[in-house]
Amino acid sequence: MLNIVIFGAPGCGKGTQSERIVKEYDLFHISTGILLRTEIEKQTELGKLAEKYIQKGSLLPDDLIIKMLLDVLESNPNKNGFIFDGFPRTIMQAETLDRLLHEKNTDIIAVLNLDVEEAVLIERMSQRGKMQGRSDDTPDTIRKRLEIYRISTEPLIAYYEKQGKLFKIKGNRPIDDVFEDIRGILDHLINKQK
Ligand code: ADP
Repeated sequence: MLNIVIFGAPGCGKGTQSERIVKEYDLFHISTGILLRTEIEKQTELGKLAEKYIQKGSLLPDDLIIKMLLDVLESNPNKNGFIFDGFPRTIMQAETLDRLLHEKNTDIIAVLNLDVEEAVLIERMSQRGKMQGRSDDTPDTIRKRLEIYRISTEPLIAYYEKQGKLFKIKGNRPIDDVFEDIRGILDHLINKQK
């Protein structure tokens, strides 16, 4: 299976690149952010809870996110693999994902780290807030999300580096150029698997 994680700070372009990758490699896209926003729209119990965390820019508790992820993994879509977008965001989530995939006799083959400097991230999210009205793209919440990213999520870079799975990509470039780099990395890994 071709299981990959798309990784980076909020606003780095994970969602945009995921859409391209999914089409090119016939993967199943799991975006925890999209899943949560759907729950909020439907005003489910999980959605109502998620709304409070997301508006503050906080992370949801690991157990809630993992339960949501399990449900999707079990749906067993007939695809080449999964692309995880917005997950894992903590060491605990990363360890759980490793364990769940091992139980299925599979693994993460690459973690694509979209690296973008903070000033650009803030600018992109502010623009998105104006255009799409995402409730967490407001100045205070953007600052909080970046802070939480540095504290809770960035340590995953070392976690995956140790496993030899981390690929750093310069994310502050045109969408097509970023995607070309991603394609180079994935095609190389696929050829090695053969
Ligand atoms: P971004 O990458 O721009 O922050 P996402 O759409 O991935 O946006 O996530 C939006 C919000 O959803 C996060 O700020 C967080 O509150 C919540 N969330 C998403 N994924 C997770 C996760 N894996 N663990 C905890 N909270 C999450």
